[in-house]
Amino acid sequence: MTQIGVLAIQGAFCKHLDILHSLHVKAIPVKYAKDLESLDGLIIPGGESTVITRQLGFRLSWEDIYHFAQEKAVFGTCAGLILMGKGCSDPRVRQLGLMNAIIERNAYGSQIESFTEDVTLSFDTYPFHAVFIRAPKILKIGKDVEIIASFQGEAVMIQQGHLLGAAFHPELTNDTRVHEYFMHHCVN
Ligand code: GLN
Repeated sequence: MTQIGVLAIQGAFCKHLDILHSLHVKAIPVKYAKDLESLDGLIIPGGESTVITRQLGFRLSWEDIYHFAQEKAVFGTCAGLILMGKGCSDPRVRQLGLMNAIIERNAYGSQIESFTEDVTLSFDTYPFHAVFIRAPKILKIGKDVEIIASFQGEAVMIQQGHLLGAAFHPELTNDTRVHEYFMHHCVN
């Protein structure tokens, strides 16, 4: 049976587990390197990329995730997207550099500028009501990266093969389409 892990170091991991369980997907929190062994995919949740940077590397290393992502699906949301990308200008953030995309932290402003808006999905006609919390912006993408969701003409969700990244929090609504997309188009 397919099993997905959610990195449970800091941030919004419980909601991802809930939404995966609601889709009848076997999902576990990931804290240790050995937790990766049984997984078909991993979600790196939103939270705070500077905090995750400081806390990752004790029980689970950057290299463990990097190697996992060479073959297996990974979905980074918000802070998770920042960690998956490249070129973050904040020196306190370490990035995995998995996705060929330049990501800027807090690009829509501070906490008070957080918002919810409909975003356009490439795979469905109905928009997705997305929650943006101190969201990052995808400033630049490489040729091998596809835009899966956009807002005001800018990419807010991108895919590079089995890797997916969203600037928003798809786990904070009852709409399961983004997680279903990950399961069907990135996992396996
Ligand atoms: N601004 C946060 C960061 O830099 C990300 C916010 C979030 O994940 N909701 O990590």
